[in-house]
Amino acid sequence: MRSVRSPLLGVKGNIELKTPLLKASSRLPLPGSRLKRGPEPMENALEPVKKRTRVQGAATKMNISRPRAPPLSTAPPQQGQAAAQKVAKRTGPRCSTAFATVLKNQKPVPAVPAVPAQKSGTSAAPPVAGVKKPGKRPAWDLKGQLCDLNVELKRCREKTQTLGQENQQLRDQLKEAQQEAKTLGTERSTLKEELARVQAQAEQSQQELGSLSAHVLELKERLGTQEGLVQVLQKEQLELQEERKALATRVEEQERRLQTSEAALSSSQAEVAFLQQETAAQATLLAERGDRLHGLEMERRRLHNQLQELKGNIRVFCRVRPVLSGEPSPSPGFLLFPPGPAGPSDPPTRLSLSRSDDRRGTLSGAPAPTTRHDFSFDRVFPPGSRQDEVFEEISMLVQSALDGYPVCIFAYGQTGSGKTFTMEGGPGEDPQLEGLIPRAMRHLFSVAQELSGQGWTYSFVASYVEIYNETVRDLLATGTRKGQGACEIRRAGPGSEELTVTNARYVPVSCEKEVETLLHLARQNRAVAQTAQNERSSRSHSVFQLQISGEHAARGLQCGAPLNLVDLAGSERLDSGLALGPGERDRLRETQAINSSLSTLGLVIMALSNKESHVPYRNSKLTYLLQNSLGGSAKMLMFVNISPLEENVSESLNSLRFASKVNQCVIGTAQANKK
Ligand code: ADP
Ligand code: MG
Repeated sequence: MRSVRSPLLGVKGNIELKTPLLKASSRLPLPGSRLKRGPEPMENALEPVKKRTRVQGAATKMNISRPRAPPLSTAPPQQGQAAAQKVAKRTGPRCSTAFATVLKNQKPVPAVPAVPAQKSGTSAAPPVAGVKKPGKRPAWDLKGQLCDLNVELKRCREKTQTLGQENQQLRDQLKEAQQEAKTLGTERSTLKEELARVQAQAEQSQQELGSLSAHVLELKERLGTQEGLVQVLQKEQLELQEERKALATRVEEQERRLQTSEAALSSSQAEVAFLQQETAAQATLLAERGDRLHGLEMERRRLHNQLQELKGNIRVFCRVRPVLSGEPSPSPGFLLFPPGPAGPSDPPTRLSLSRSDDRRGTLSGAPAPTTRHDFSFDRVFPPGSRQDEVFEEISMLVQSALDGYPVCIFAYGQTGSGKTFTMEGGPGEDPQLEGLIPRAMRHLFSVAQELSGQGWTYSFVASYVEIYNETVRDLLATGTRKGQGACEIRRAGPGSEELTVTNARYVPVSCEKEVETLLHLARQNRAVAQTAQNERSSRSHSVFQLQISGEHAARGLQCGAPLNLVDLAGSERLDSGLALGPGERDRLRETQAINSSLSTLGLVIMALSNKESHVPYRNSKLTYLLQNSLGGSAKMLMFVNISPLEENVSESLNSLRFASKVNQCVIGTAQANKK
């Protein structure tokens, strides 16, 4: 703004200058200034002039008598007057008046002739003859008159002298005035030029002023806009200030929170560091414990095996089924379960069966004597025993399969003695009646899950076949595979110990549900093969096989063993003394096949027990299929299922005798199939 204003001020200054410049001329050292000093002598000089005016008539007289000296200036009186006027204009009123007075007073001196002076004057009447003056000497007083004239002459002379001096003075003054006029003329032209220049400057300034005014207007508009903008900005600023305040409050709040968080963080960090240390310590401890646990697990397996060995690698459990509704109750004392050595709390291991000798009684006429047959087994389950109680006794054995020991569990007994009930369970969906197979599966899956925590990974593959009349059939066959081609027992590969059933399904299982489905399928397949005359399930061996494979990847350990759950064919014999019909002949053949395979099983166990060089596995499909799960490294459990009915006493005794023989067998130390 200053830069804009400054030219305007300059212009103003120029304009202001106008007056001082004009005024300045009056300040110039004009002759008037010298004239100012002059008036006193001038006035002094003029004073006699005034006085002379009063005696003009006398002067006029003098002029008549003696012509006056030539005028002071050669210039005509008009010219002198004009010059005087010009000077007067310049020198101001005071000086000009004095000057003009001098000139005026001089004028009549050279120019006025006697005649016009007589005509014109009224107040200064010339001393014309015939005009009387009051106080005049009488005409006769010539002496007086002469005296007066002399005085007058003397005075005139003095006056002439004074006038001459005055004249000289005036001439000097005139000269000075002329000089001054010249100077003033020069000055005037300079001033004119200056005036023109100033005017031009003024015009330019005017133009500049116009443009500046426009500019000012524009600036004013802009200022207005800017002011509006400033107002908006001020408003915005206010808003922003408020916002800033709010933000500052928020920042403070956040800072407070941050401080709290930082404090919490630092405490958390300390805690984390502490926890990390603890975790590291725990990890070390865990690793140590893992090692220890593994050691303990291996120790457990060893001890477990030792325990199983102490219990016997071949164990026999006797289970007597309850009397079913509609069946005759046996006479009291027919079956007795004497308590164990530790009293009634001790699980029974003994069983007494009383059999009346009918023939002897008939012959003597006396009541038939009874013969008591005592049997001792690893465990005896009386009729009231529940499925879970039974399983509890074999669960340890099932676990041996996970440890890598082949396990075989048989259910032996006559038809209707409860073999299928023991192995698969009772009819319906009652979980209480679940048999050994589903319970064993559940137990295996659960233990495998527990062992996974120690680094073990287990997989299970199930198969279910039946051996009827020395033919193998897949009970898990579905759809078109049913009845297609005979199943054969073959080695899994050349040089392999493992046996496999051709055309049979091997189904990987990982939960009970899958096993349940398989058992259901097997039951359906068995029912299809059944005929009215031939309840085939009783006449065939059902073999449920589960291949267990375990691996401890971290320690490079592997173990695998089969678990076999076998529901044997009914062990009852046919009365060979009876006449046989064609159907019964078939039945006899079936029975012979069953008996053969069961006796082969007995023979195999005997041979193993006696450590014979030849074990007749190949004598039956059953022993052939189970050869890897019998003998040295295997553990075997046989359930001998007994009917509680007196009418089955003969078969019961047969079963018990067979089982007793098996129970007496001791098969060499079992060895886990570890790799
Ligand atoms: P097997 O298979 O030896 O021929 P089952 O298992 O079919 O004999 O049993 C014959 C009958 O007796 C079936 O009706 C079965 O439900 C019943 N049964 C067998 N054992 C028991 C038991 N412990 N408790 C209740 N019922 C049983
Ligand atoms: Mg059965």
